[in-house]
Amino acid sequence: MTTRQKFIAGNWKMNGSLQANAALLKAITQGLREQPPACKVAVAVPMPYLAQVQALLAGSSVQLGAQDVSQHEAGAYTGETSAAMLADLGVRYGLVGHSERRQYHGETDAVVATKAQRLLAAGITPIVCVGETLAEREAGQTGTVVARQLAAVAEALGQQIEKIVLAYEPVWAIGTGRTATPEQAQQVHAALRAQLASAAPGGAMVPVLYGGSMNAANAADLLAQSDIDGGLIGGAALKAPDFLKIIGAAQA
Ligand code: PEP
Repeated sequence: MTTRQKFIAGNWKMNGSLQANAALLKAITQGLREQPPACKVAVAVPMPYLAQVQALLAGSSVQLGAQDVSQHEAGAYTGETSAAMLADLGVRYGLVGHSERRQYHGETDAVVATKAQRLLAAGITPIVCVGETLAEREAGQTGTVVARQLAAVAEALGQQIEKIVLAYEPVWAIGTGRTATPEQAQQVHAALRAQLASAAPGGAMVPVLYGGSMNAANAADLLAQSDIDGGLIGGAALKAPDFLKIIGAAQA
């Protein structure tokens, strides 16, 4: 039997404003006060809003997340944000390897692995994203691609791999409204869990989230799968009622 607690993380991407963030978080934290979640909850917000959101989340059950981190420790890296800076702002989770970073910013498996190391060294839990493109899925390469992406991080972290959160995000499902079926997702999650289990003694307990057009209507079916431990939610995390419904679907 598993005792892995479900985890719902929102990824706001490059959305928001001081005003919109305050309204969204007010609705979310109020909803969670009325109906306390059975799962862990976090929101990964744009860098300029980390301090605002840290203050707005004080005393709530929602944890603060960042969407990226520099692969470098400190110094002459204009525009970058270090893991230590994120820790300073109370960040508990950091996304690494999101497909939008791999695709638009040329992030390699090695860069993703280094970023995960930086976060862990600063006491922040990396949410490592892996996923195949549509072409890779159609070529029957899903298993090989996600295994390679995870292996790069596992090699860099060694036994510390058991401290990450993993997110399976098929690229073809992100922001497209096209969701993996629960069976498709479960198949990949089971393979990823087996890989984690063989990488470290506690590897089987690593939370493995699904991401890719998860919404209020499909969350329950996805979350009912034995190896789906939660969701990484993009678009639906920007609408409080939808995000709250997804959280409500995530029973411990
Ligand atoms: C994401 O950005 O990680 C994501 C899963 O987005 P969406 O839910 O919008 O597909």
